[in-house]
Order: sequence, then structure tokens, then C-alpha cells
Amino acid sequence: MDKKSRKRSGGAPRIKAEASGRVSARKTQAPRSTKPDKSEAGGITRPLPARRAHAVAATAPYTKKTIALIYDFDGTLCPRPMQEYAFLPKIGANPEEFWAESNRIAREQGADPLITYMHLLYKKAKAKGIRIDRSDLVTQGAAVEFFPGVPQWFDAISSYVRKAAGERGVTLRHYLISSGLTEIVEGTTIFSKFYNVFASEYWFDPYDLPFPKRVITDTGKTQYLFRINKGIENLGESINHHMPEQDRPIPFSNMIYFGDGETDVPSMAVVRKNGGHAISVHGGSSDREKCVDLFKAGRCDFFAQADYRTTSPLFTRTCMLIDRMIADIRICEETWALQQREEFGR
Ligand SMILES: [Mg+2]
Repeated sequence: MDKKSRKRSGGAPRIKAEASGRVSARKTQAPRSTKPDKSEAGGITRPLPARRAHAVAATAPYTKKTIALIYDFDGTLCPRPMQEYAFLPKIGANPEEFWAESNRIAREQGADPLITYMHLLYKKAKAKGIRIDRSDLVTQGAAVEFFPGVPQWFDAISSYVRKAAGERGVTLRHYLISSGLTEIVEGTTIFSKFYNVFASEYWFDPYDLPFPKRVITDTGKTQYLFRINKGIENLGESINHHMPEQDRPIPFSNMIYFGDGETDVPSMAVVRKNGGHAISVHGGSSDREKCVDLFKAGRCDFFAQADYRTTSPLFTRTCMLIDRMIADIRICEETWALQQREEFGR
């Protein structure tokens, strides 16, 4: 499946912008099989039934060799919330006042803060008589400015993994999990770098105002970590059924989660408690303290300034974690091969 199809598969029916500005729904496929083929699933603990053993062993190499780097967006890859680069200026809203109003409404009404901001954006646009459809939102993505080195980061890390893993067949994927808007992310220059994007999204056609189709909250982000872990990235499929650890294609130990603050605590906790890694980033000395707090609380392995250039501490520390993951993959692969030889005489 081509890369474009994979990325668009994050949602159930996705909304595709058309030239006329109208929109239509289309179903897309999952990026990978959502039912792992047990004959291909790696694992080192579950003995196979003796009769199947020889046949499976011959075609069952160790497969848990995908490393997933998973990013938050606002404050992690770009300094400000993504709506501040084009949407708020277009409707003449002062960012500070907009977020203060949104948070106040959410507090007073006992509403979800994310649903509230998604509603308020369009309520204010409508009040000003400004129409912003899906394709406008995608266009707004071009205005997003990133921290230094972000546009080059993905290829630089990929090339590091290629060099460090050598012939070991290790695959690298970049994922995005954001409470921001899918449509804006799609218009950014880095969209093509992600294997999949999970972010909040609107319905555009059935309502007077665009209506939240998917809202990704801080704790809701963890669902998508499990989707990556289990290889169930098609949102039309339930994530809740039990899947034994050995059948999960990307173990948490192969993940690094990048976040910038308290909103990332649930994701960092899930990743780290399951043997994975987390890095917290900050935009400079003024907000360094929040990273120190996360670090002291054991939420992240490292913290660093959000400088994604190859000369930065962030790059060096990420590569250190990647080195460890590649070493672990190598050990697991060797253990798997040894087990295959001992149990199945191969
Ligand atoms: Mg953030």
C-alpha cells in the first residue's frame, strides 16, 4: 500500500476535500493487517503446539523490529498551538483571550475543553461571517512554524537508524498523536513524514457549524499508543479485545514518546510503565521548569530544548535511546533464534 493511503487510514471514513470546496466521505483501508498473522508474529515466551512447530519455525523470523517515534504536536514540534498560526489571525481573535474564554466556558459548563475550543473556533468564525472549510484548514497548515531542525529531523533520525542497525532489518516509523486538528497537520510540510497521524477532526457537511468528529484528549491519546502497539490503526476497529503480548507487533519497549508538558503525562506514563521511553522538550529557559518537574517525577528518560538539529542534545539523547532499543532488539532476536533451535531443532 502506498504511503499516502496508509496515512489517510487513521480515521474511519475520512473526509476528502474536493476542488469545489464541497466535501465527501470515503472509506480507506487499514495501514496494516489488524489481525496479526500468528504465523508471522514474533515472541519468545509462548510455546507453539508441537505439530505446528516445525512448519511455523521455518517461516517465523523475529518480527518485532519496528521502532516507533511518537510525537505530540503543539509545544513539542512547534512553539505555539497550531490554531494560532492562521485560524485565529484570520478571525481576528487574540490567542490569549481566545484560550482564556474557551477554558472559562469549559470550566463553567463542565464541558470538555477540547470540544469547547473546537466549537468556539467556528462559532467565532461564523459571527464574523468568515467561512473556513476543510480545504481552508489544510491550507492553514502551511503557516505553522516549527522548532529549529524539525523539517530535517525525520530523515536524519531515519538515516541514523539505518546506520546503527546495519543489516538487522530494523524499521523506523514516525507517528503523531495530537489534540490539535488533523486538517491543519495535513497542510504542514512534515505531514508526509508520518506513518500515521491521529488528531482531532471535524465533520464538515451535516451541520450548520462544523462538528467535532473525533476529539483526542490527554488521556484519550493513550488509546492510540495501544493501537500502534497492537497494530490496529484503523479507527473503525475496536482496540479493546485482548491481544497477548507476543502478538503485538510494536512492543512499548520499541517506542519513544516526545511531549512537552502536563498534557503528555498520561502518554508518557503508559509508555514508560510498559518498558518504553519518553523525552520531554521545552522551548527555552522560560519553560524549562515544566520539563524538570516531569523528569524528577520519572515521567521521562531525558529532557532537552526543542532543538531538533543533529548537533543538539535532543538529537544525541534520542540516538542513545535508539542505540539501546536496537541492542534490545538484537538480544531478543538472538533469544528467539536460540529458542527456535532448541525447541524445534532448527
Ligand atoms: Mg503539547
